[in-house]
Amino acid sequence: MIIAIDGPAGAGKSTVAKAVARALGFGYLDTGAMYRAITYKALETKTGLDDQVALGELAKRSHLELSDSHIFLDGRDVTEDIRLPRVGGAVSVVSSAAVVRSQMVSKQREVAAALKSVVVEGRDIGTVVFPDAEIKIFLTAGAAKRAARRLAELRAKGLDVAADAVESELLDRDRLDSGRDVGPLLQAPDAHLIDTTDMTVDDVVRAIKALTEAADGPGI
Ligand code: C5P
Repeated sequence: MIIAIDGPAGAGKSTVAKAVARALGFGYLDTGAMYRAITYKALETKTGLDDQVALGELAKRSHLELSDSHIFLDGRDVTEDIRLPRVGGAVSVVSSAAVVRSQMVSKQREVAAALKSVVVEGRDIGTVVFPDAEIKIFLTAGAAKRAARRLAELRAKGLDVAADAVESELLDRDRLDSGRDVGPLLQAPDAHLIDTTDMTVDDVVRAIKALTEAADGPGI
């Protein structure tokens, strides 16, 4: 069974997806981490972000491995590196390259097939990667709330960032992610919309669990 969770930046997808996976005993796949890892490598290797051919080659030559909440790029743990602000600032450009997306989508299908029951989060999971997913969720929240949550997360990590910079980074990313031609950020017609602005993480997890149990019948 696949539970697809899509939505804009900072809507709480990772927190919720991990909690749902834990509650149901499912695997978890963070597809954003994959695009971030390729972006990190492009920055490290000074690959031109507008050079789609070079980005495609780079993605093809990269070995990505995901385990629990860690991601390894060519054998190196880059879990922390991919969260750097410079990666966040460039990832929407790299992820708009069709050659990069097609390779990431294949890899995502491979990983999910191995995990069998899995919660997959991203932007195009319910529309492109798994259009037949049993459960589709589109998670959203007001922009101010999303920015406040992201700010709290960054400050908890000891990063000193300005609130308005965080909000504009999220909105810029959403604009680019929604506007691209391939795999844009989009709510699938059969996705359940959950607005988390005034909900706790537990509320959201309970709602998704209830939808899953209803789809699967009792005893999941
Ligand atoms: O989920 P996260 O915010 O870490 O994703 C980082 C970026 O990766 C997104 O802003 C988007 O550009 C890209 N992404 C994507 N398709 C996905 C998941 C993430 O294009 N399925």
